[in-house]
Amino acid sequence: MTANEIRDSYKKFFESKQHAIVPSAPMVIKDDPTLMFTNAGMNQWKDIILGTRDPEPRRRADTQKCLRVSGKHNDLEEVGHDTYHHTMFEMLGNWSFGDYFKEGAIDMAWEYLVDVLKLNPEDLYVTVFEGSPEENIPRDDEAAKYWAKHVPEDHIINGNKHDNFWEMGDTGPCGPCSEIHVDSRTPEQKAASGKTGRELVNQDDPQVIEIWNLVFMQFNRKADGSLEKLSMNVIDTGMGFERLVRMLQGKHSNYDTDVFQPIIKAEQQITGLKYYTFEEETVNPISKDQDDINVAMRVCADHLRAVSFSIADGQLPSNAKAGYVIRRILRRAVRYAYTFLGQKDGFLHKLVPTLVAEMGDAFPELKAQQQLITKVIKEEEDSFLRTLEKGIGMLNDAMGQLKAEGKTELDGVQAFRLFDTYGFPLDLTELICRENGFTVNEEQFNVEMQKQKERARNAAAVENSDWVELAQGERLRVGDDESGMQQFVGYDYTEYECHIIRYRKVTQKKNEFYELVLDYTPFYGEMGGQVGDCGVICNEAETIDIIDTKRENGQSVHIVKQLPKDPAAQFMACVDTDKRNASAANHTATHLLDYALKQILGDHVEQKGSFVSPDTLRFDFSHFEKVTDEQLREVERMVNDMIRQDIHIDEHRDVPFDEAKKLGAIALFGEKYGDKVRVVRFGPSCEFCGGIHASSTGRIGFFKIISESSVAAGIRRIEAKTGKECEELLYTMEDNMRAIRSFFNNAKDLQGVIAKYIEEHDSMKKEIEAFQAARVANLSKELVSKARTVNGVSVITAKFDMMPNAAKDLVFKIRELCPEHLVCVVGTVFDGKPMLNVMLSDDMVKDHGLNAGQLVREAAKLMQGGGGGQPHFASAGGKNPDGLTAAIDKVIELAKL
Ligand code: ATP
Ligand code: MG
Repeated sequence: MTANEIRDSYKKFFESKQHAIVPSAPMVIKDDPTLMFTNAGMNQWKDIILGTRDPEPRRRADTQKCLRVSGKHNDLEEVGHDTYHHTMFEMLGNWSFGDYFKEGAIDMAWEYLVDVLKLNPEDLYVTVFEGSPEENIPRDDEAAKYWAKHVPEDHIINGNKHDNFWEMGDTGPCGPCSEIHVDSRTPEQKAASGKTGRELVNQDDPQVIEIWNLVFMQFNRKADGSLEKLSMNVIDTGMGFERLVRMLQGKHSNYDTDVFQPIIKAEQQITGLKYYTFEEETVNPISKDQDDINVAMRVCADHLRAVSFSIADGQLPSNAKAGYVIRRILRRAVRYAYTFLGQKDGFLHKLVPTLVAEMGDAFPELKAQQQLITKVIKEEEDSFLRTLEKGIGMLNDAMGQLKAEGKTELDGVQAFRLFDTYGFPLDLTELICRENGFTVNEEQFNVEMQKQKERARNAAAVENSDWVELAQGERLRVGDDESGMQQFVGYDYTEYECHIIRYRKVTQKKNEFYELVLDYTPFYGEMGGQVGDCGVICNEAETIDIIDTKRENGQSVHIVKQLPKDPAAQFMACVDTDKRNASAANHTATHLLDYALKQILGDHVEQKGSFVSPDTLRFDFSHFEKVTDEQLREVERMVNDMIRQDIHIDEHRDVPFDEAKKLGAIALFGEKYGDKVRVVRFGPSCEFCGGIHASSTGRIGFFKIISESSVAAGIRRIEAKTGKECEELLYTMEDNMRAIRSFFNNAKDLQGVIAKYIEEHDSMKKEIEAFQAARVANLSKELVSKARTVNGVSVITAKFDMMPNAAKDLVFKIRELCPEHLVCVVGTVFDGKPMLNVMLSDDMVKDHGLNAGQLVREAAKLMQGGGGGQPHFASAGGKNPDGLTAAIDKVIELAKL
């Protein structure tokens, strides 16, 4: 079976078991402060598991793009060195939210692997949780019992808490899990090893690996560490797609399957190097150098996928957070290609066409954005290769220094600096050092690394207390919704009666605040680039400021500095409507802007990020060159035209996703959409959007672009203002204009007047220059005629109020008139500053050994100055004009004529 067929068969199987087949969530997570990337299939169901979202349909299955390069799951350093961990991989998963539990999950998994896919049951082993006496949790006998229906006792293995007890985080849902492992050794390997598969499970054997993990969530862990029963049991399973494909295609390395082979073939073609598959390696053991090449090719093939999918999901490499993680992955690939594949120029971007050809059908976001992906990767590669060269230069200098000092060890602090500033990991520094006969102090390096980690940890530390539940939540269960979930009423109201249903204390960098969840709330929580609402909750007894509203697990979480005295009381929740209306107008303006950009620049324009606050809006989009002033004007005109048409919002809530697409709504790549979506239309602009909007475009008032710039390769940014902010902008411009006009006697034709001034200025400048030239010519003649003669040398000294450049012209003119036996010293004062010029004829330099530079330097001391120049001409400036005459005399004295 091909990879694509295997993917389909999984979906088909679970469809036949009444599961809703749902799309993969984006790999890059935008609205969860606790997680940057999807690292497991369950991430997108977190809110269902936590009880803040409707669990229907209760059976679901999908294939999820995952990335494991940061936080709890970080496989980055393994990738390429082993053959079964990737940075980005697909996780096949099936879920039950309060439907079937352990027995159903185990039976279905077995049926799929053995009956449908025909894996050999003798090669399958399963693990169950052995129990934890100190936590008072018994062995998972239940799971063991169900497994025993399918496998012999000696294929069931007890596993410890580390491997067989899954937790969502420090707190929250958790429970035992059962893993399915496969023994994929060749018969020869089995015979040679003398060990059973059972003995190799969880022993890091590259041929005895975990393929599927079935998690049985049944507890909730509280902040004090204790466990309580979960109100709804959850089945959460995850199977590594690439590992499954490898089993079914009879391979022994994920990289030998049709998921990776086309990319590896392209790598071989570009580099002219060979990759050895598992079989080839077995027949023909490979050298250390060839192994390095193999590793590097695997690294590049893997990282190409991770980076391309991230960019397609809207996460570009950058200097912070998720963007920085992507940058690090890309740089890791560049280093391997540079060091082991001899690629001194960008390499990864050349593989994009192969990736798109292979995966573009299953993942249309890749195909649609191929140009952007290629461009971004190329630019990153080029810029990192430049950094790499600089770092290598620095390392060479350091090694030169060591050699001079007779040392052979590079200190760890320096190695760490290379890592920190140039992205050189220790192994690269060591490699280069080793090639030159040096070692690196690893211990010191690790100490520095540890220090940095500590600094980062301290900066990010957040402490959450347990949620305190209030009985008022009951109101929801008897009201119009029985789910106990918060109701957001902010699309229709800005004030609403409410109760606090739960709250908790949060400590961040010694800062303390509280988070409140209300039963009904008009407050919009920050999402999709639009900032959260602020306002108050109040009743007769008190008023509490809501300083911000965040969105967490699909709910608005209100941030307050202090808790109400009676949290159980009833409140009125009131949004600050001035700020809300301004944000709403800006949000609607971004939709119109998006529409106008597509009309004027073309269909390739894709939204790549936006920020909407009460005072400004920012919109990032893909476009490959600067937007011209004329195009910006056209965009502004189109948006303002739509504003004047005062188009009313046409809003559709809870539309099934496919129906929304039929309405012509624009969905963004990398955005997570539920089964039901909201569509917002203003005339021809139609988008998927959960944000707060103006009730009609007229409310925007006016739209003006403030700047257009580049944020990254292929991505432009427009900043703009609307409404009242535009009014203020206009006043500032008007004030400036008025001030300028007053300089010109409030002339009506300001442009004409300024042009005339410039013209006059230019012609006056020319006149002055001509006048100066004439003066210099006259003065030079006069000075030469009045020169003293000392021992056959013409000595000219003079002092004028004159511009420095005129004085320079003057002494050169004098030298022209008097090319031999000349010593000329001209002092000037301009703007209160003295200046000394010394000019000598060539013979005075050659035959009399004089040097204008030396003379001027010495003499300028008398006017508190300094200077220099050539042997025949030098000048010096000074601070004290009263010393100028003495300085002139000093030059003559020093010349000793
Ligand atoms: P392992 O011990 O092999 O790292 P895991 O315990 O981290 O696996 P889970 O978190 O249980 O794995 O993930 C579920 C499944 O996803 C695994 O059984 C495996 O098939 C697959 N998987 C996990 N990590 C990776 C990875 N880095 N690359 C490819 N597949 C993976
Ligand atoms: Mg792992």
